[in-house]
Amino acid sequence: MVIGIMPATLHTPPRRSSTQAHRSLLVTALLLAASIPTHSLLPHPVDAAQIPFGLTPPLADLAPPSPAYPAAAAAAATTSTDLAGQSVLRYTTRSHDQHSRLLQWAHANNLDVWAAPRGAPCPRPHQDHERPSSTHAPTYSPHAGCIDLRMPANRSTPGSSSATLPLPHEILSFRGAAPLDSPQVLIHDLDALVHSQHHQRLERQRQQPPAALAPHTLDPAWHDDYHSFQEIADHLLDLEHAYPSHARRIQIATTHEGRPIYALKLAKRQPAPPNDGDDDGDGDGELSPQKKNSKKNKGKKGGDKKKKKKKHRKPEPIGIVIAAEQHAREWISTSTSLFFASELLRSALGSPHPQPHPHPGPDPNPNPDPNPAPNPPPSNSDDNDDDDDEPDTRLPSLPWSRKQARRILERFSLTVIPLSNPDGYVHSWDENRMWRKNRQPTTAAGDEAGCVGVDLNRNWGFHFDAGLNPCSEAYAGDKAFDAIETRAMAQYIDDPANGVEGFIDLHSYGQLLTYPYSFSCSEAVGDEEDLLEVSLGAVRALRNVHKRTFTSGRTCEVVGEAGGNAIDWTYSVKWSFSLELRDGGTYGFLLPPEQIRPTGEETGAALVYLLDFIHEREKDKQKSGHHRLQ
Ligand SMILES: [Zn+2]
Repeated sequence: MVIGIMPATLHTPPRRSSTQAHRSLLVTALLLAASIPTHSLLPHPVDAAQIPFGLTPPLADLAPPSPAYPAAAAAAATTSTDLAGQSVLRYTTRSHDQHSRLLQWAHANNLDVWAAPRGAPCPRPHQDHERPSSTHAPTYSPHAGCIDLRMPANRSTPGSSSATLPLPHEILSFRGAAPLDSPQVLIHDLDALVHSQHHQRLERQRQQPPAALAPHTLDPAWHDDYHSFQEIADHLLDLEHAYPSHARRIQIATTHEGRPIYALKLAKRQPAPPNDGDDDGDGDGELSPQKKNSKKNKGKKGGDKKKKKKKHRKPEPIGIVIAAEQHAREWISTSTSLFFASELLRSALGSPHPQPHPHPGPDPNPNPDPNPAPNPPPSNSDDNDDDDDEPDTRLPSLPWSRKQARRILERFSLTVIPLSNPDGYVHSWDENRMWRKNRQPTTAAGDEAGCVGVDLNRNWGFHFDAGLNPCSEAYAGDKAFDAIETRAMAQYIDDPANGVEGFIDLHSYGQLLTYPYSFSCSEAVGDEEDLLEVSLGAVRALRNVHKRTFTSGRTCEVVGEAGGNAIDWTYSVKWSFSLELRDGGTYGFLLPPEQIRPTGEETGAALVYLLDFIHEREKDKQKSGHHRLQ
């Protein structure tokens, strides 16, 4: 399979205004109204995808790590399949300088930085969900931060005398910087936690009653656990078979290791196959010749003209891509995207046959509807067109009604990519639960450390920064879009035939809803009023479901500055958001399966809010003939 290489500069988001100093008064007012500091508030740690490695002070300005720790040994620590003896430490930082020094030190030693948020002290471990609403932030400090580090074996216990890699708080206290406080131990024994969850999953599978082993994957109980690549591929196909008029599994590319990157297209009156995306049956990941031709004229500079042309042609339904798992270990993002897709179909069109089994797991519905309506009858016909005349129904446990679900399927063409990084996912499933990147060779492949893989959310072609070595967990790639996965997604998003107007990127962990830019806070966001307004509304909708507090803001502010981010690239012509799902650090990437369903429910509420908002804005623009970029 060969996909034409996209120019790294395919998109150049327009400079909507000159500097951050011009940040609008309305945005400031919105932030103040929500009691969010204008330079951001961050109550939770975030995904290491957002590490501001590119903007830490130059190495020359920092004291070197001392004593030196062999890079190969550190790389082995972060790439090893053996997690024995490893743990996760949380450092509170009390100044920008301290934060930067610690990050610089961690990257210099090729450590795995799980999270590095700024703007607030660290939440208390194991109580992050109890934190009051972000509308109250008495402890806010613009310079405070929090860094979660996965530490190699024998170096994770504070005070360990046998460590060859010193603990950061023992060395980063020179050149006038305030000494680091001793860390909190977030996860004492990473290996034990991983194995415990693995054995619990096997035990759950053994205990499933035979009825739950039906040949289809559409039982709602399917969402009570994480699933393998093949199980997910089967699930997507089962959805297509159950809802043929609204769902179709397509393949947008084939990975380095030969796995398909599947997507599920959700829209009313799906045109009959063949040949949308790569679903031409040959599995080669190629776009059709027609679509290839449609891209030929889409150069970076001419993109705006093409977009205008497309809009006038037919912008409905609005295309939205919901992507998950650019980072392999963030399993909850995959599960959440699948929950949203399947439950949206079920609530709009009825349960597929056979009827679902009773839910056997922990109570997934802490806020049950006291008067739940029965499921609507299964239907894939056009009889649902006139649902405005029907009484609305709300399915138990879901934060949207049947009518809302139907409207979404009418207004939007949703493309859900549950496994953006299937090679990495399989590796995280079979070999190394903590794997983050994809599995393609790099220029340094074959070296002694065995460092392979690209951090996909650093590989997009906007302000690409190949700053780190290939052994880093955040290695951006040899050049922009040199990863098949990012290239395929970008090509799909950029194809006028798909009508994509929005991109929502699911990650974990950190409980954040952010919007561009990631690469720099000095670049103002022209329509930040819209982005902030919808973000604040979405996190309110999310919080109403299970009381989880999410924070919203520009990625560069609440997370940190980093180039090559997907939502920066898609922002050129799209609505672009990144959601960091549960939790705040208690389990980090190892979120227990009991939290899959509530995470899906609350995230679904946020997604529905985002979609409604986008629809209203796009409708207004169509009425006025005013394109978003004009
Ligand atoms: Zn991520």
